[in-house]
Amino acid sequence: MAEENNDFLKVNKGIKQPELINRQAVERLRKNKNILTVSDYVTGIKNGNTSILGKAITLIESHLEEHQQIASEIINQCLPMSGNSMRIGITGVPGAGKSTFIESLGYYLLQKGHKLAVLAIDPSSEISGGSILGDKTRMEKISASNSVFIRPSPSGGSLGGVARKTRETIIVCEAAGFDIIFVETVGVGQSETTVHSMVDFFLLLMLAGAGDELQGIKRGIMEMANAIIITKADGENITKANIAKNDYTNALHLFPNSESGVNPKVACTSALKNTGIIDIWNIIIDYFTVTRQNNYHIEQRQKQAKQWMHQTISSFLTDNFYNHNSIKEKIVQYETKVVSGEENPFSAAHKLINEYLNSVHDIKNI
Ligand code: GDP
Repeated sequence: MAEENNDFLKVNKGIKQPELINRQAVERLRKNKNILTVSDYVTGIKNGNTSILGKAITLIESHLEEHQQIASEIINQCLPMSGNSMRIGITGVPGAGKSTFIESLGYYLLQKGHKLAVLAIDPSSEISGGSILGDKTRMEKISASNSVFIRPSPSGGSLGGVARKTRETIIVCEAAGFDIIFVETVGVGQSETTVHSMVDFFLLLMLAGAGDELQGIKRGIMEMANAIIITKADGENITKANIAKNDYTNALHLFPNSESGVNPKVACTSALKNTGIIDIWNIIIDYFTVTRQNNYHIEQRQKQAKQWMHQTISSFLTDNFYNHNSIKEKIVQYETKVVSGEENPFSAAHKLINEYLNSVHDIKNI
């Protein structure tokens, strides 16, 4: 006992304690220096400062409540400066040639004086833990330009969550003066539908296969596409690419006329040889011209605004439900009961929801 007391006293008497406090104070000061106010962020974004833009996106993507509050403020203040870009979704399977295509088209757009943001939604592989988009060096030719902002965002398996953040990321990029926004997804599942709900124009990149072109894509994705692009149309691949182009054109003829007033187009490109790039850009420009004239553009943005509101509500409620302390504890217990058959899934869900609703007064304003 006595020995223990001595040890305790020794620690308290030592000179290490004040040193520790000082170091913490210094660390706090250092951190404080880096803390930007909402107005610092908004001014930086307005001035096109990509380093501040990047930091703002990190806040937008953060799960911390205090970050989300600052992010909401930033988004609110950026909204009046947003909306003027051409929002373009680009999808295709890994290896379809997305980054090479974006680089070629991006290079052409830079020459024309545009400012380009590339937001890549990266569905990090849940099996390998690896990232599909981030592992390789991408778009070196354009990434050094001040007029280009490239941002990969790992989805971490939650596409709904990323979709919300991507929408908000589009807003801050527009406020920073980027007039063309590419939202790139890997065509492996649900992401296309989510991205389609936040862009004006949707490009599907396809490889020319050996006669089985139409089997690899889901009809739903083809229906969403405003243009189907056959990539790598060079060398020995040219013939195959042209056959694929005809097949897709015929397939698209079977679809009803597009609501937008512009039926989807099919084109071939070689990003390596730089062929077809301008034609594809013209397809995109024609689409924007027609849909701005016939009001489809604005109607689609209005519809998307409505979806944004609903998605924000549902993701807030879901996050709030699953992060609620009493739910976090009980959910594991109910999962066990459901697995063992002690409780049916339907009644377990209802009990958890009731538990949540009874404690709903704990919810803070957002
Ligand atoms: P992503 O995974 O869809 O982004 O595809 P990448 O752009 O990384 O391209 C995958 C591979 O295809 C790379 O080895 C590229 O060099 C190659 N590739 C991309 N575009 C072309 C093209 O136009 N022609 C040819 N021959 N190869 C290409």
